[in-house]
Amino acid sequence: MWKKQQFDVVVVGGGPAGSTFARIAARGGLSVLVLEKDRDIGVPVRCGEAVSDAGLRIFHEPRDRWIKSTITRIKLVAPNESSVEFDMKEKGYILDRRIFDYDLADMAVEEGAIVITKAYVDGLLIDNDYAVGVKGTYLNEPFEVRAKLVVGADGVESRVGRWMGIRTQLKLKDMESAIQKTVSGIDVEPDRFEFYLSKKWAPGGYLWVFPKGRHMANIGLGISGNYAREGKAACRFLDEFLEWKYPQASVLTTVAGGVPVAKTLKQIVANGLMLVGDAARTVNPMTGGGIISAMRSGLLAAETAVELIKNRKDLHMKNLREYEHRWHKIGGRNHERYYRLKEAIFRFSDDDLNRIASRIAAVSVDDRSLLKLFSIAVAQKPTLLIDVVRLFARL
Ligand SMILES: Cc1cc2nc3c(=O)[nH]c(=O)nc-3n(C[C@H](O)[C@H](O)[C@H](O)COP(=O)(O)OP(=O)(O)OC[C@H]3O[C@@H](n4cnc5c(N)ncnc54)[C@H](O)[C@@H]3O)c2cc1C
Repeated sequence: MWKKQQFDVVVVGGGPAGSTFARIAARGGLSVLVLEKDRDIGVPVRCGEAVSDAGLRIFHEPRDRWIKSTITRIKLVAPNESSVEFDMKEKGYILDRRIFDYDLADMAVEEGAIVITKAYVDGLLIDNDYAVGVKGTYLNEPFEVRAKLVVGADGVESRVGRWMGIRTQLKLKDMESAIQKTVSGIDVEPDRFEFYLSKKWAPGGYLWVFPKGRHMANIGLGISGNYAREGKAACRFLDEFLEWKYPQASVLTTVAGGVPVAKTLKQIVANGLMLVGDAARTVNPMTGGGIISAMRSGLLAAETAVELIKNRKDLHMKNLREYEHRWHKIGGRNHERYYRLKEAIFRFSDDDLNRIASRIAAVSVDDRSLLKLFSIAVAQKPTLLIDVVRLFARL
């Protein structure tokens, strides 16, 4: 019985970060327990479910059962409702995350990890300033589990880091307030992402329409915490959009959540503890996409954990920092660039966006690319170039 065992690692949270960590660590020979508070792995899905093919392939050959739509085009809609379309260089997917997350957990189990749902972790066991396990409730019964290493994969609302004194607070502007409805009974292009850019649709963020077939889509938006504070809630922006664009839509699912569009935390390890995925703030701050980066941080953390535990090294934070360095080198540094770019782009006014859209519309479809869009954006607002030069100057 898992409650009576001592593990090499206990992972808090069975999302993409936790399951990826568990799979790699178990494959490396560690005993791993994943504790998930919800009844089902992957449910509720608080996600637009969009990933790139290239990102997914870092980890897995895409399986048909994960994919609701294959995306090859992007449509950008400007505030004045004019729009431009591009072909994408690399395809993307809209996943069915209930199946995807479930399979990720199952793959971890196949490698030897144990996954338990309905296990809510509410504190750490701490010994001599090291995390040495977790405590919580399982089916309303209290439990304690000891482990050499605790991994906080507990998502955007993570508390595991705070329990070890890691500063996880974000600036208000760096926490998007997101809402999404999965709607059916509408007509959408099944191979096209749609993004709506305007302060009237999603101030400080964007609104997305991600198709799940021809008649269903994830429609959602994220607004910057600063705007959310000013009064109009994200759900009102979304309802107004649906009323305008898809008044006939049926709403099958509504989810809300925070998206940390921040830089990765400076400190993502402590003695006997690692943070991965949203808990470490690994979301791409420009796009709000976090599935692949969560998996990537889970992978890097697991490789470090295997190396240290197999070699009986002290799990002091100075050794665990190997993971921190690797993440900042591979993912984190890119995210800092995206963060600065996001800051620059979200300074565009609706008039700027309209002018950029009309300039792009004049470019022949074959010539359109994100680079072209970018050069037009820079021509429209030369100060953006300064931001970009600053950005690249720091590469
Ligand atoms: C509305 C919305 C739309 C999004 N759209 C996209 C998108 O299209 N593409 C994309 O790439 N990303 C998107 N994201 C971001 C993406 O969902 C996350 O970045 C990703 O899920 C992070 O994975 P994770 O494993 O770190 O955390 P999660 O997937 O959040 O998993 C954390 C898990 O920990 C569990 N947990 C939490 N606390 C405890 C506890 N105390 N005890 C036990 N278990 C616990 C939770 O139940 C959860 O299952 C979106 C986010 C939102 C909110």
